[in-house]
Amino acid sequence: MALSEFSLIDRYFSRSVKQTGCQLGVGDDCALLTVEQGMQLAVSMDTLVENVHFLAGVDPRALGYKSLAVSLSDLAAMGAEPRYVTLALTLPELEENWLRSFSDGFFQIAEHYHVDLIGGDTTRGPLSITVQAHGVVPRGQALLRCGAQVGDLIYVTGMIGDAGLALKSQLGEIQSCAQIQLDRLNTPEPRVQAGLALRKLASACIDISDGLLADLSHILKASQVGAVIELAKLPVAESVLGYQRQTRQPGFALTAGDDYELCFTIPASHVTDIEAVSQAWPYPCTWIGRIDDSSELSVLNDGEQIEIASNGYQHFS
Ligand code: ADP
Ligand code: MG
Repeated sequence: MALSEFSLIDRYFSRSVKQTGCQLGVGDDCALLTVEQGMQLAVSMDTLVENVHFLAGVDPRALGYKSLAVSLSDLAAMGAEPRYVTLALTLPELEENWLRSFSDGFFQIAEHYHVDLIGGDTTRGPLSITVQAHGVVPRGQALLRCGAQVGDLIYVTGMIGDAGLALKSQLGEIQSCAQIQLDRLNTPEPRVQAGLALRKLASACIDISDGLLADLSHILKASQVGAVIELAKLPVAESVLGYQRQTRQPGFALTAGDDYELCFTIPASHVTDIEAVSQAWPYPCTWIGRIDDSSELSVLNDGEQIEIASNGYQHFS
């Protein structure tokens, strides 16, 4: 018998909830949640559309993983602790193998971060996935984009440009790339641990989805400051550097996007603290530049300012 919408939800998307603040999960018209005293609820939504955010025929398990990972990345960028998610799925057809793999990938990362799926919507149409993530942060401690001050240092977690190189490989524009880079594109790890540690240290924070230059620009605009970053300091893998040299695109890693790393600013007085806490993170944490009182973002290559074309992906331009 064909799978109905309700048996689909039952079979693939109803799991017992673990968070104590959830009194009612999947099954009624709404979920019911209680947020502890002194905490603020941080809410974010991301949509992945076939052939815009991912290629048709992508591994459904990786897709399930990534669709939650990118939403948790937004919570990380606010310093919020992940708690709940809702999932809106639009599917062209009910394909059980696809659904099983998708939900396996989705719940793999959900369980890792102790996130409960508490509701959603299921509709028919061109493949698209929307995840709304809910996290909590002590009142007043969220990491905003608007707090960067002149003299603050700029840092980035992890490596940038890996996912961009993997996309070139998946599109057939380069012959191959390493598995580590394909993993960074298909199953990115949200920097939740870093986001929580940054609550009391960072003056501003953003996650890098559209490319470091574009996303750092959002911090600069919101904070009404400028910045200088140095190309030589950027955490870029050898193979990405090789691609940049070959194609004469020194700014590739800065604009490639899909990194899901955190870019943040800290007052100079917190440098030793950040060096200490970041020791515990299983990814690098790299100083790349400084906030200044100019009104622009300058990129230095051997002391000389260079122009970088393209400022991130924009859907309507
Ligand atoms: P309603 O008609 O009230 O909008 P639905 O029939 O859409 O409710 O959904 C029934 C229940 O299943 C609701 O609790 C809803 O949150 C949940 N739900 C629907 N789709 C999903 C999904 N893809 N993942 C998780 N929960 C879902
Ligand atoms: Mg209803």
